[in-house]
Amino acid sequence: MVHHHQFDALVVGGGGAGLMAALHASKRVKTAVISKLYPTRSHTGTAQGGIGAALGNMEPDKWEWHAYDTVKGGDFLSDQDAVDIMCKEAIDAVIDLEHLGLPFDRTPDGKISQRRFGGHTNNETKKPVMRACHAADRTGHMILQTLYQNCIKNKVTFFDEFQVIDLLIDDGKCNGVVAVCLATGELHVFHSKGTLLATGGFGKMWKVTSNAHSLTGDLPAAILRRQLPLEDMEFFQFHPTGVYKLGILLSEAARGEGAVFINDKGERFMARYMPTMKDLAPRDICSRYIYKEVREGRGIGGKDYVYLDFRPDQINKYFEEDGNTKRITAEYLETRLPDIIEFSRVYQGVDPITQPVPIQPTAHYAMGGIPTNVDTEVLADASGKTIEGLYAAGEVACVSVHGANRLGTNSLVDLVVFGKIGGIKMADYCERASFRAIKKETAADFAQSQIDVLRNGKGGEDAAKIRKSLQVMMDDNVGVYRTGPGLEAAITHIRELQARYKNVAAKDKGMLWNTDLMEAWELGALLDLAEVTAVSALARQESRGGHFREDFPTRNDADFLKHTFVTVKNGKIELSSKPVTITRYKPEERKY
Ligand SMILES: Cc1cc2nc3c(=O)[nH]c(=O)nc-3n(C[C@H](O)[C@H](O)[C@H](O)COP(=O)(O)OP(=O)(O)OC[C@H]3O[C@@H](n4cnc5c(N)ncnc54)[C@H](O)[C@@H]3O)c2cc1C
Repeated sequence: MVHHHQFDALVVGGGGAGLMAALHASKRVKTAVISKLYPTRSHTGTAQGGIGAALGNMEPDKWEWHAYDTVKGGDFLSDQDAVDIMCKEAIDAVIDLEHLGLPFDRTPDGKISQRRFGGHTNNETKKPVMRACHAADRTGHMILQTLYQNCIKNKVTFFDEFQVIDLLIDDGKCNGVVAVCLATGELHVFHSKGTLLATGGFGKMWKVTSNAHSLTGDLPAAILRRQLPLEDMEFFQFHPTGVYKLGILLSEAARGEGAVFINDKGERFMARYMPTMKDLAPRDICSRYIYKEVREGRGIGGKDYVYLDFRPDQINKYFEEDGNTKRITAEYLETRLPDIIEFSRVYQGVDPITQPVPIQPTAHYAMGGIPTNVDTEVLADASGKTIEGLYAAGEVACVSVHGANRLGTNSLVDLVVFGKIGGIKMADYCERASFRAIKKETAADFAQSQIDVLRNGKGGEDAAKIRKSLQVMMDDNVGVYRTGPGLEAAITHIRELQARYKNVAAKDKGMLWNTDLMEAWELGALLDLAEVTAVSALARQESRGGHFREDFPTRNDADFLKHTFVTVKNGKIELSSKPVTITRYKPEERKY
């Protein structure tokens, strides 16, 4: 049986971006949030280090410096109109969060405390600046709880544990979504005037990843299946400090507090490569140099990892080397970084207070995603045409503020700034638009067909085996270092897996809480996204930000200062491009 609902505004995703949008939309129109997880379990809750805003509470700072750092960090692929909006609005956004009740850490005189993070600088001295506002190393958790409570207060309707698998798109307009109620297995059609997608990242394409199990790219895949484009899929960030072999994140806040990378010789190697910012160089750069050390035989014990050293006495020694008069104690670190210290102890059996911690780069953040303009309206193509009634914000969207590489703390800013803009723009639209008619009897057909294939299938392929093969191959060939032949091999492999996927049948044929079936469906989404990621990466014959081609090791602005758009039409992948919006900051060499 198919159930039907109607709301003015629908938000898909109950993370930071979705809840921010719902909070603002619900002030004016009837709003519902649909989320496959209970909202406070969203990945935003794991964000540790901080949210960047040029409050200047600790030392001089300006939003223009934040904007320049973001553009430079993004290797000049960011759209600068969007970056200006984000960095300017970040200041009010943080103060808004404070007024909504978020318990930020404080300075002794009661202001919001701030700390250093990679790539954030004083543009005059070029030295690191304290810009990341934080609540211990649980900043995202606090944001999520604060926003959820405010949404409840605003009487937003929540459909928890409903998984959206299709969009109702007709004649270039969006009329809602189709979701599976996970508890019953039944389909629900949500008819709306405005729909905002905020489903987060899709790092589960890789084996070693910081991303939660739920981050499988369901909505970007649904977009592709509706023949709409994704943008800049080749740009995925590998965060330098994942727990060795597991990928669980140890926040950059550790380096913000003074931790450094060391190689097998005990050498602080980032000082050799990036003399000014050293270990606080942006993530793409740190990840590449970690693997350079490994390849040149200086990984720990000759293996594929290095150490992150945050033993307090060592940090004080590094401060001394850098002429920094600050000194810290073990107690200080335990209060500033409680969770990540605990993670090391629990998951690695390593105590960071007395031992260096084995780390390796981990697949972390999607710079690309569903293309939008600065009003969060989803683009139908590279010309800038929009899909009426459809919006996207947060990690799933590509507006594009992060360009080719995101700076730490800039995702949380992106969520709250563009989540709010999205909520307001969608409410504006809902107030002036009327419901478009949908064909109720057939609205769920495409979604139903996708589920039926998996439930009724007779094939013998196992989804878990295909997923593992995909993830290992993505780590090997579509990781920190890429080559033309490696990417071609990846594409061939993904297509073989897609063929095998046609013979996947869910073992559980039931309706209630059929996670076996939904995981098989998610694998289909991951395969589709992996294919367009590898194809986009193969076409970009240059190195920029998170995309490093060993066969084209330099940035090539003459040919590639442009965004990639990718669509799948009649089974064929088509690529096109959109120019980068450049206003104040002309592309320059990235030195730190
Ligand atoms: C470990 C970790 C630490 C991080 N630390 C920081 C940090 O310190 N600072 C920073 O700026 N950034 C950080 N990031 C990045 C940042 O946390 C994320 O980019 C951001 O939280 C994404 O928020 P979101 O609202 O876009 O999506 P998410 O918070 O991921 O939420 C996605 C939502 O979509 C829902 N959803 C997904 N698919 C479906 C579907 N098919 N149907 C219905 N609902 C669906 C989920 O239920 C969920 O509610 C970190 C990321 C990780 C993984």
